[in-house]
Formats: sequence, structure tokens, C-alpha cells
Amino acid sequence: MDLSGASALVTGGASGLGFATAQRLSAAGAAVTIVDLPSSAGIERAAELGGTFAPADVTDPDQVAAAVAAATRAGPLRVVVNCAGIAPPAKVLDREGRTTPLADFERLVRINLVGTYNVIGQAAAAMAASAPDGVSGDRGVIVNTASVAAFDGQIGQPAYSASKGGVHAMTLPIARELARYGIRVVTIAPGIMETPMLKGLPQAAQDSLGEQVPYPARLGRPDEYASLVLEIVRNGYLNGETIRLDGAIRMAPR
Ligand code: NAD
Repeated sequence: MDLSGASALVTGGASGLGFATAQRLSAAGAAVTIVDLPSSAGIERAAELGGTFAPADVTDPDQVAAAVAAATRAGPLRVVVNCAGIAPPAKVLDREGRTTPLADFERLVRINLVGTYNVIGQAAAAMAASAPDGVSGDRGVIVNTASVAAFDGQIGQPAYSASKGGVHAMTLPIARELARYGIRVVTIAPGIMETPMLKGLPQAAQDSLGEQVPYPARLGRPDEYASLVLEIVRNGYLNGETIRLDGAIRMAPR
């Protein structure tokens, strides 16, 4: 697919994996719309790329509709990458054996899973209404972000694993449904990536996490994620699949 003159929307695009992806898409010629919270560095990040910042909470239908409309004004919307997410840990029971607040579980699932679905739904409508790409015949590609926690979640990750397992599970039915429009849907399940989320940990903790990766024994780089997004966009036969990007790590219980 030719990205020059095309529009690409990246949620969570002000930081980490999302910003690395926005940089790659911009370098490939796409007009990039960064969708992130108003409190994020979205304005500065978009300015660096000569792109657009559309402040939005991915769980809000009206805000996401406005962001998709902004992206569509920049050109035919061909690429949507869902990177917005949060990962606060919470066990089922606290130290005293009491149930932890249900609202925490609901909030995490709402942002990571419901938010991803909200963006997919609204972006798919805009893509379906566009003319197909003259070269590939594709109308667009949607890339979601799950996690290895979808498959081997650790203690303290029931909500995160549930949200990411949901992103993985809905990939195939949505790819099947959107096939008739020429829209592909692919999910990436990253392992432990070196983003602001992880860089907040002490260096010793980062090193220890990196050593758990069979090969290469280090944290993943945001640009390795972004590079895979670009390959998914380029490779028209990838569809309805979740790809682990994790150096072969299988997470231990804790
Ligand atoms: P990050 O914290 O650097 O970036 C996440 C971005 O999402 C932030 O800019 C944040 O403002 C935005 N965001 C959060 N809630 C939002 C909302 N409601 N609406 C809009 N934007 C919102 O984190 P990252 O490491 O780049 O993570 C990106 C994605 O990758 C997340 O879905 C995360 O769960 C997933 N992931 C990360 C890792 C890792 O090791 N870093 C591993 C597996 C999966």
C-alpha cells in the first residue's frame, strides 16, 4: 500500500510504542494523526512530525469520532494503530484477603479493550466509505496492541490479561467481518518493551527483566514494534492474526 498522501491514526501516539510508530508512518509519507489524552505530550509530538494532534479519550465515542474525522480530512484513512493503554497491577485479593475494587478492573478493561473496540468501529466506518487503494486494492489496515500477558499473565494482571486477551480474541471475528471491505486487522502482542512505562523502573529491575528474555536478552525497542507495524501494512497477506514480538519470553507467574 502506498502511504504517501494517505492518512494514519495512532492512539497512544504521544508516547512509547505509539510515538515510535507515528515516526515510522510519517517517514513513510503518511499524514499522521496522534490521538491521545489532552494531558499527554501530543501537541509537541505531532509538531515534531508535522502531523495533527487530536486529543481524545479512546473510551469516549464522541471524542473518537472527532479524531477519526480529523484524520480523514488529512487524506484517505488507510492505517489505524491502537496503542493507547494502561497497565496498573491489581490482584484479586489484597494483603488482608479482601477483594480489590471492582471499579479498578472495569476501568482497565474499559480503556484497553472497550477503547480499542471503539476506535476500530469508528475507523472501520471511515475506511469502508473510502475508495480502495489504487495499487493494493486494500481500503485499510487496523493494527491492535495486545500483550504477552494475553497468554501468560502474571500474578497481579487479571484485568490487564483479560483486556489484552479480549483484544487478541476479537481480532479474527473483526478481520472476518471487514474482509468484504478490503480492511485487514492484525494484532501485535509485545513482550517487555523499553517505553516510559518500563523506564520508570530502577535500572536493576530493567536489567533483570531483560535477562529473562531468551534472545536477545534485553528489553524490546519501540522501533522494533514500529517496524513490525510497517511490515503489517506492507504485507497484504497478514490478516486476522496475533503476532508475538517478545524475544521468545514466556512470563513466569511473578
Ligand atoms: P506508554 O505509557 O508509553 O503509552 C501509552 C499512551 O496511551 C500514553 O501516551 C497515554 O497517555 C495513552 N493513553 C492512556 N489511556 C488513554 C486513553 N484513555 N485515551 C487515549 N490515550 C490514552 O505505554 P507503551 O508501553 O507505549 O504502551 C503502548 C501499548 O502497548 C499499551 O496498550 C500497552 O498495554 C502495550 N504493551 C506495552 C508493553 C511494554 O512493555 N511497554 C508490553 C506489552 C504491551
